[in-house]
Amino acid sequence: MKLPPKIRTYCPNCRKHTEHDVKLDRKGKERGMNRGRRRYEAVKSGYGGSPRTPKKPNYKIGKRPVIILTCNECGKKQQRVYAARSKKRAEIE
Ligand SMILES: [Zn+2]
Repeated sequence: MKLPPKIRTYCPNCRKHTEHDVKLDRKGKERGMNRGRRRYEAVKSGYGGSPRTPKKPNYKIGKRPVIILTCNECGKKQQRVYAARSKKRAEIE
C-alpha cells in the first residue's frame, strides 16, 4: 500500500485546511525491564496464572497504518489512523 507524501487536511491549531507532511508511525522497541513489565512478571510468578485474559484470534488480515501529519504552516503534529486497510506494509511513495 502506498500513501501520498503530502495531504491537504484540517489543522486544529490553524483552524483551517493546510498542507501536511505524511510520515508513518513505527512502534518503538519496548525496554525489557520497564515498570509495567516488572509488575507483570511479578504477578505472573508463582501460582495463579496470568492476570490478563488471553487474546482472541484476529480474523482481519490487513492493518490500518497509523500516520503522523505535520502541518507545514505551524509545524504541529497530529496522529491519525489511515482509513484503508493494507495487507502489505504501508509505504510513502
Ligand atoms: Zn497548522
